[in-house]
Formats: sequence, structure tokens, C-alpha cells
Amino acid sequence: MGIINILDASVASKISAGEVVERPASVVKELIENSIDAGSKNIILEVKNAGKKLIKVTDDGCGMTKNDAVLCIERYATSKLRTIEDLNSLITLGFRGEALASISAVSKLQIVTRPRDQSIGTLVEVWGGEIIDVRDTGCKEGTTVTVKDLFYNTPARLKFLKRDSIEFNNIYNIFYKLMLSHPEISFKLISDDKLKLSSTGDGNLLNCIKTIWGQEIADHMIEVKAQDRAVKVTGYISDRSVIRRSKNDILFFVNKRCIINKALYAAVLDVYKQYLTTGTYPVIVLNIDIDPRMIDVNIHPTKLELKFSDEHGIYGAMYNALNNALNPKSEVNRPLTSI
Ligand code: ADP
Ligand code: MG
Repeated sequence: MGIINILDASVASKISAGEVVERPASVVKELIENSIDAGSKNIILEVKNAGKKLIKVTDDGCGMTKNDAVLCIERYATSKLRTIEDLNSLITLGFRGEALASISAVSKLQIVTRPRDQSIGTLVEVWGGEIIDVRDTGCKEGTTVTVKDLFYNTPARLKFLKRDSIEFNNIYNIFYKLMLSHPEISFKLISDDKLKLSSTGDGNLLNCIKTIWGQEIADHMIEVKAQDRAVKVTGYISDRSVIRRSKNDILFFVNKRCIINKALYAAVLDVYKQYLTTGTYPVIVLNIDIDPRMIDVNIHPTKLELKFSDEHGIYGAMYNALNNALNPKSEVNRPLTSI
């Protein structure tokens, strides 16, 4: 007899859930991304006890049929990808079909959903990966996903969570980035029955910046608009007077996904080093629209790092876009590099 044993499905699913769901903030990210992918115009996030007790996301997106509402909690169940080639033209935030499967494996999950063209909705309830109820229900168009008692069946994970103020901070940080990535969607964050952050969905990025960082920062933001054949850079960067001690406010959204990339970051630091001393940083909110074939998003679900096929070119494009905006009369202005 050997010593190897195949894990049963319920143990395996709890372990793999850990890859996607690390903490309440990861649930928030996955649920809101689903609402964005569903074409919602209004997204409301409610949390209780920093998401440990309750995370509820209500949207007015496309909703799901009964069949789909039952299917969506299966692993690798997705409406966003069919073939491996589809990865090259991906425009959705999700595509792995793992989020709801993972979340439902480690919580008490409820989905209430109705597609736009149907009069009756569906309620699906799943506890620890087991479907315990599926029934018709009256509900508004769109989807509400409620996640209760996260990690109730994985005590080791539960113990690993930090105190409420830290976990809420993680949620807040994810939330405002999602809000900035979609100024055309109205977002609301309610924590323990108090409204913490909201946007109107008027499409104005500067208004979102104002609600997050305040009027004073918004007054010192410069608009960036640069277009190259393959890359479009738009957004706002702070002028020379804004000095931040943390680099957390340097944000890049590539095709509406908040990402980390060394070349983009280096371009920012190189442009600002003329004005800021070491250890101080600007506020940067930039959208980079680029042909999906020039980036690789096929990375680990929780990794935010993104690779461009031409990192050097993207550095040049970003450097010039920022330098032109920050220093319009500068002699060092050069046209955008072709990439
Ligand atoms: P992915 O987003 O990678 O496809 P998920 O597990 O997050 O995987 O979701 C599975 C599927 O469930 C999605 O592809 C989508 O079809 C459906 N779905 C999830 N959330 C929503 C929602 N809020 N509105 C409409 N459909 C949804
Ligand atoms: Mg998803």
C-alpha cells in the first residue's frame, strides 16, 4: 500500500478557494467585477463587521436565468470565455469562472437574480459549496449576491483575518479603485449601515477623484490626454505642489483593470523626480487603453501585475504623455513614441 490519497472534492474545493478568496476584500473585488461585467449602471456594496459577517452586492446588470444562476457556482463556469484564443480579445474583468465557486465553498452564499427580459427571478442558496435551495422569487432586474459568515467552515482561514479596521481598509482600497475605473457607474459603499463612499456615475473622473481625495487634491490635478497609434492615455495627474508620503495613490488602469506595472511606475517616478524629493509621490489616476493582444492578462487570479509585449515602448509613451501634461512649455517635450 502506498501513502498517497486523493483528496475528496469538498476538501479540494476549500483549498483551491483559498487561491481566490483570501479575505473579505477579495470577495468584494470579485463580486463587484461581476457586476461591472454584467453591464450595471448602479452598484451598491453593503458590509457588516468589515465583511466578516456580511458582504452584499446589489446591481442592476443583465441578471441570470435560473439555469445560469445554478451553473454559475460551478468551478470553471463562465459566460466570458469559450476558447483559449478568446483570451486575446478579452474585454471583461472575469474569465476564469472560479470566483463564485470559490466564494460559495467557504461561506453561506445567496444569489437573487432576474434577467431584463423575464418577469420572475431566481433565488439560489449555497452553504459551503452545497446547494440548499433553488426557487422562483419576485425581485428587481439585476443581481444581488449575499455572502454571510465568510470562512465559517475553514477555521484556520478565519483566524488569519485581521481586526475589523484593517479588513475594512482593504475593502475600501479595492472599492475606490473599482469606482475610479468606471466613473460612468454609480457606486455606493455602506458599512454597518453608514454610507462611506459614493459616486454619481456621471462619467466625470475628476468628480470621483474629488469624492476620494477631497477638493484640494482635485483642484491640483492636471488632465492628461495623449493618443498614439496603439495606446491612448487619459486621466489626471497631480501638479508639482501635491506631495504625498505614500505611493499608494499612483494608480494605473489598463483597459479598465487596475494593475501594477514596473515600466509605467518608472515613467512616473522619472518624470516627477525633477519636482519631488525622494520618498514623496504624486497622485496619479491614468487610464491606458491598449489593444488586448499587446498585454498578457493570463496570470494568477490574485496577482495584479501586468506585462506589456513592448515594455520599453510603453515606458516612452507614458513618460512623454506625463511630461507634456506636467510641463507643457518644456523644451524636453517630445512627440509620443510610436510603439
Ligand atoms: P467569471 O467572472 O470569471 O466568469 P465568476 O465565478 O465570477 O466567473 O462568475 C461566473 C458567471 O456567473 C459569470 O461568467 C457570469 O455569467 C455570471 N455572473 C456572476 N455574477 C453576475 C452578476 N452580478 N450579474 C450577471 N451575471 C453574473
Ligand atoms: Mg467573476
